[in-house]
Amino acid sequence: MENAEKIATRHVLLLTCNGIGHINPALTLATKLASMGLSITLVVPDAASFSLVASTDFQGLPITLTKLPLQDHGQEEQHQQGWTMEGLRVAVRSGYEWPSDYSRQKIALAALLEELKVSSSSPCCVIVDMILNWSEELLVKTGLPRFILYPAAPNYLALSLHARSLYRKKLLPVKFPGFETMKVEGLLPLYRRDVPDAMTDDGHCLYPLHMGFNEHIISSDGILFNSFTELEPELFKALAESFEEIKHHELLPIGPLFPSKYFTPDALNATKESSVLRSSEEERCQSWLDEQPVESVLYVSFGSWALLTPRQICELALGLEASQQRFLWVVPVENKSIEELEALLPEGFLKRTEERGLVLPGWAPQHLILAHSSLGGFLTHCGWNSTLEVITLAGVPVIGWPFLADQPPICRYLVDGLGIGAEVLGDDDGFVDRDEVERGVREIMESPRAEGMKSRAKELQAKARRAVAQGGSSQKNLEAFVARIKSLLV
Ligand code: UDP
Repeated sequence: MENAEKIATRHVLLLTCNGIGHINPALTLATKLASMGLSITLVVPDAASFSLVASTDFQGLPITLTKLPLQDHGQEEQHQQGWTMEGLRVAVRSGYEWPSDYSRQKIALAALLEELKVSSSSPCCVIVDMILNWSEELLVKTGLPRFILYPAAPNYLALSLHARSLYRKKLLPVKFPGFETMKVEGLLPLYRRDVPDAMTDDGHCLYPLHMGFNEHIISSDGILFNSFTELEPELFKALAESFEEIKHHELLPIGPLFPSKYFTPDALNATKESSVLRSSEEERCQSWLDEQPVESVLYVSFGSWALLTPRQICELALGLEASQQRFLWVVPVENKSIEELEALLPEGFLKRTEERGLVLPGWAPQHLILAHSSLGGFLTHCGWNSTLEVITLAGVPVIGWPFLADQPPICRYLVDGLGIGAEVLGDDDGFVDRDEVERGVREIMESPRAEGMKSRAKELQAKARRAVAQGGSSQKNLEAFVARIKSLLV
């Protein structure tokens, strides 16, 4: 009995960081682990996002929240304001310095670790977000097994480990164009535009950031991926066999990390219940979707922080208009007002498209939209969360319009690997014109190829559901992980 109690109280420290795409998977993981008999201290950033986490209903599970300054606040402010892609390019070209002083965070984490060490339930293992590499030294000192939660696309890990080994062999850096395609084990050949300059040029101001994550991942004991084996089997095989640095790690795809109710046939109701703020905007969005024919609406969103320039917004609007398709478009604007939208969009656009388009100012209830039966396609920046969400909740074709980091390789895989989408191409400055937008929209919504994309997307959706169900690959991996934690000595 005593033994059983001890096992039941195995305590895990889980550290996440700013950004909805990092926090949401961590919340789901905490909930899953706690419902499988572990107790969790979930360390979340002391930032605006804390209120979102604090309002989560953990349904009495043993999850304790602790706030820490887990990211630099300057960075957080910039993140909240968002970057236009043009602004980001300019900042990067002019040598934007990513915050590198983490002394405040280190002091706070050291104090927390000290406090937990002397508490009655000291942790037996740590799970830490892939980008919190500054924590490596402190966590290594605890002597506890350390696992990485990797909420980005796993292909990005393969790409950055590949770049790391090219540097070691002195085959990098290369300046643009440098190469036409790059072959990374487990990935389709990547075009030059798919590989971020920050990976191939060590003079790039984001290079230390990209490469910094690698070392803390390599020195960990294992990696928990927000993905599932059947989504990218070649990649997971390659990660396990061809990358010396992580070959002996436990590599566990345990996703898609969404609340389990999202995998039921009534996912739409599940997304409603989970909305923290059920606003009138959201009600409006749902009533509008309810009125549209099944699988007829294109949803357009570029994620939580990327912004388009006003010129690009106008061009996108004109392309959407020319496509004649129904659309639901979320346009980030500061005060979430219709007046701001009118000022940004081409004159008369809202009026001309009111019969078949809805433009939401600011923020969209994305899960609800993707789970709605009227959804027919998604124009996305290919953020990994949006990608997993469209696969899991919607099972519809996508148009990829990627910007940076893992987005271009994700887009390549969605289009050329999985065959569930089309991509739009910009000019050298990334500007996408209205004809290209129209072409992309028509391709996934009404072209002869669209049917094939749709049926492959539905097959993938079924695979995602199977992966997290009892006996599914992700569920088995999670159970193996929990069994391993429960066997650890405290
Ligand atoms: N999201 C949302 N409403 C919006 C924009 C984004 O709910 O109007 C959510 C979306 O569902 C996803 C996350 O924000 O979970 C964006 O994560 P992703 O990895 O796709 O892109 P990022 O924002 O990190 O670039």
